Amino acid sequence: MAQSEGWSLIVHGGAKPWDPAEEQANRDGVDQAVRAGAAVLAAGGSALDAVETAIRTLEDLPIFNAGRGSVPNQAGGIEMCAGLMDGRDLSAGAVGAIREVRNPIGVARLLMAEKEVLLVGEGATRFAKDKGVPLASQQELLAEAEKHAATEGQHDTVGAVALDQAGNLAAGTSTGGINGQKVGRIGDSPLPGGGLYADNHIGAVCFSGDGETITRLALAGRIMASLEDGEDVEKAIAKSVAKLPGTGGAEADGGGIGIRKDGQIGWAHNSPMFAVGMLTSRMSGPAVYLHKSEEAEGGARR
Ligand code: ASP
Repeated sequence: MAQSEGWSLIVHGGAKPWDPAEEQANRDGVDQAVRAGAAVLAAGGSALDAVETAIRTLEDLPIFNAGRGSVPNQAGGIEMCAGLMDGRDLSAGAVGAIREVRNPIGVARLLMAEKEVLLVGEGATRFAKDKGVPLASQQELLAEAEKHAATEGQHDTVGAVALDQAGNLAAGTSTGGINGQKVGRIGDSPLPGGGLYADNHIGAVCFSGDGETITRLALAGRIMASLEDGEDVEKAIAKSVAKLPGTGGAEADGGGIGIRKDGQIGWAHNSPMFAVGMLTSRMSGPAVYLHKSEEAEGGARR
């Protein structure tokens, strides 16, 4: 890939209901994550490292339904999903319904070195343990979950998409899934072509929202096709998200973030809240938003 003119990073803290009590923590969290990931890019690091770093930051913050803040399933246990994709060679690593790990995104990253793209359940947890990643007991994870004010059926996910100085793209996701979900449920988040995709020749994208509907619509794959046809990344994401209710019912909502190979950034959502932070080499500081309308108002630069 040719040297690009700079670097770009966009992160999100989930498509979810609006909760006034959680506004500030969401803003602060995406701000912290985008700064952490951007530091990697500014130092000449890879898009993949920046995405992993940003997502680890979000997983460690209990306000987000991923890692430490994951919501419990129907049986009261914590099962998480995460995915990472590298646009350089289309390598991908993903885990589904993994238990007892602090940072599922780190396990997804380790899996990228293996032939397998996706490990789930006991196999994913065993792989993580074999690799010696930091563990967290179900009790520890549940203690955090109890502090999380999620209601039954509530969902959200965290994600990040980056373009590095060498013109490489990467995308990643991490989630605790849906509050009260069936044991073993896996949504779109770890599925390349569903909840995420990255290809240096096209762009990179990731989604949050109604996981079954995002999967049925193969939203990340659709974005790639649209971008190949020359579509604007934000229009492509907005059109994809707008398809959710038609397929999944009136309640099906979501949000997506993306970067086209030329560095164009876009995001869109039809959920009440979508916490987004972005920073590029051309900006003086992060821009953080909880809703698309704030961007139009232009008031969220930090
Ligand atoms: N997409 C996630 C899932 O279905 C949840 C979310 O992003 O809201 O597991």
